[in-house]
Amino acid sequence: FDDRDGWIWFDGKLVPWREANVHILTHAMHYASSVFEGQRAYGGRIFRLSDHSRRLRRSAELLGFEIPWSVEQIDAACNEVLKANGLEDAYLRPVAWRGSESMGVNPKGTEPHLAIACWHWGKYFDEEKQHRGIRLDIAPWRRPAPFTAPVESKAAGLYMIASLSKQHADARGYDDALMFDWRGQVAEATGANAFFVRDGKLITPTPDCFLNGITRQTVIELAQKRGIEVEERAVWPEELESLEQMFVTGSAAEVTLVQSAGPWNFEVGDLSRQLQRDYDDLVNARQA
Ligand code: PMP
Repeated sequence: FDDRDGWIWFDGKLVPWREANVHILTHAMHYASSVFEGQRAYGGRIFRLSDHSRRLRRSAELLGFEIPWSVEQIDAACNEVLKANGLEDAYLRPVAWRGSESMGVNPKGTEPHLAIACWHWGKYFDEEKQHRGIRLDIAPWRRPAPFTAPVESKAAGLYMIASLSKQHADARGYDDALMFDWRGQVAEATGANAFFVRDGKLITPTPDCFLNGITRQTVIELAQKRGIEVEERAVWPEELESLEQMFVTGSAAEVTLVQSAGPWNFEVGDLSRQLQRDYDDLVNARQA
């Protein structure tokens, strides 16, 4: 992925894609002192851009460092790099990390850095699957407790278990994995939040040990606009049998329908389809 044409915004300036490098003794590489974002641009407009920039700064703060650019400056940098690459429909990946100015577990003496890349990224799951429904494995790893890691941070370190679970699911022929949390409650997929439908109601796990995704919040608003009741609460696996529909949400995954999760099967139903369309209309700035 590093050998291609294009521009990456790196610590305040645009550098050629192939030259956006860091030193091997970068603190982040050894001690996971890195946070990132992921957002999509539709027709040149980055959806909920400031919310992503704000979360990036907050993620870094939770890891004890401050990004030396304001939300407005990060927003402007995102727009700049999108334009420089001549892209309108794209995925943007801001990443902030502690550098190689000092070495050791103690991050003292390291400097914060920020880079933003963007590229054309089609559907996270292929288009047909997004509508027909993906198949989820059950992850072998659980989301950690809030007293084990700063779970509200979109920290690279927390993606170790997501990446392991995704690799495990992929090797077993699944599209992704459903992760439970440290208590055994249903949490989320490896890169997207989970929603269920029963009796015309939307049910979604309380985000107390995983990201309260920006897409998740958007979908809750879209549901409420349609007068659909939304229950945010603990979801236990015993209940999955009785839940009728499932979908996952994320900036990359958008609204993706789910066919099955482990032994539990779901129907691809109207309510899920409706919210998928509403989200699509909203990000493309068409009126729902
Ligand atoms: N959970 C995880 C683990 C994720 O990686 C993402 C994607 N950022 C989400 C949830 C959804 O977050 P958002 O809707 O803000 O993209």
